[in-house]
Amino acid sequence: MSALTTHNATAEEVYLDRLLAAQLLLPTDLPGIYARGSAFAQIMEGLEHAITRYGRTKETILLRCPPVLPRSIVEKCGYFQSFPQLLGCMCSFTGGTTEHDALMQAVDAGDNLLPHLELADVVMAPAACYYVYPYLAGTLPTEGKTTDIENWCYRHEPSLNPMRMRSFRMREFVHAGTPEQALGFRDRWIERAQEFLTLLGLTATVEAASDPFFGAGERLMAAQQRAQALKFELLIPIVSDERPTAVMSSNYHKDHFGHLFDIHTPDGQTAHTACLAFGMERIVLALLAEHGLQLSQWPRTLQARLEVN
Ligand code: AMP
Ligand code: ZN
Repeated sequence: MSALTTHNATAEEVYLDRLLAAQLLLPTDLPGIYARGSAFAQIMEGLEHAITRYGRTKETILLRCPPVLPRSIVEKCGYFQSFPQLLGCMCSFTGGTTEHDALMQAVDAGDNLLPHLELADVVMAPAACYYVYPYLAGTLPTEGKTTDIENWCYRHEPSLNPMRMRSFRMREFVHAGTPEQALGFRDRWIERAQEFLTLLGLTATVEAASDPFFGAGERLMAAQQRAQALKFELLIPIVSDERPTAVMSSNYHKDHFGHLFDIHTPDGQTAHTACLAFGMERIVLALLAEHGLQLSQWPRTLQARLEVN
C-alpha cells in the first residue's frame, strides 16, 4: 500500500510511505491499522522499559487490562455523549442456525452485517485510564494512589497520517488523591515528561489543549477545558512545524471520576484525579524522525537507553 496516491501528498503521508518502505510499519488494507515491524517493535519494548525505570516507584500500583472495556464504564463516563465519533463498539453473533444462514448470505453478498449481529457488552478501550477508576472505589490512603497502566486503545479516526492511528498503545500514570495531590502530580509530571523526552533527544513544547468534543456543545466544552487549564499536551514537530504532534498529554479531571466511581480521600471528600499519557507510537515516530530510520545510526547513548542496536 502506498500512501502517495495523489501528487499533493502531505508531509505526514510522505513520512508514512518512508515508514512502510523501511518495514517499520507493515500495511493492512485499512488506513490507520498497521502491524509493527521488527525495528519498530524493538523501540517500543525499549521505550516501555525506559518509562518503567523513569516513572514507576515502589508505591505505584501496576495494572494491565484487556483491550476491551465493559461498555457500562464508557456509558457511565459519558463517552457516548462527548466522543461518540471516536468509539469502537463491538458486535457479536448470538443467533441460532436459521439466523446463521441469513448471516452467511449477507457475508457472501457483501451486505451490511449489522442486522444479523447484536451490540456487545464490551467496547474497544478509547483510553488506558478508564480501567483504573472503578478499582479505586472506596477510601484512598493519605498519600493517594498512583497507578501505572498500559493498553491498546482504539479511536475511529481513519487517516493516512501515521501519527493518527486507529489502534495504538497508551501508557498512563494516574493519580487519585486530594485536589492538591492530583494537581501536584499533574504539574510535576508535565515537567518530568519534558525531561524524559529530552533524555531521548527530543524537544517538546507544552501547550494547553482541548479534546475533540462532538456536536453542538463542542466549542463550549473545549473552551471550558482550556479556560480551566485541565489538559496540556507535549508537542513535537515530527514532520511539520505547522502541525506539531501531541506525543504526551496530561489531564486533570477534578472530581469527575471520584464522583462517578465513589472514590474518597480519608477525610471523606470526593477524590480528585489526574493522568499523564504517553502516546507510545507517536514517541517512536518522533524518535525515528529525529534520529533516522536506521537504528544502527542512532547515538550510542540512545541505543543503550532504549536497548536497541
Ligand atoms: P488523549 O487522550 O487524546 O490526550 O491521548 C493521549 C495520548 O495518546 C496523546 O497524547 C497521543 O500521544 C496519543 N494518541 C491519541 N490519539 C492517537 C492516535 N490516533 N494515534 C496515535 N496516538 C494517539
Ligand atoms: Zn487518562
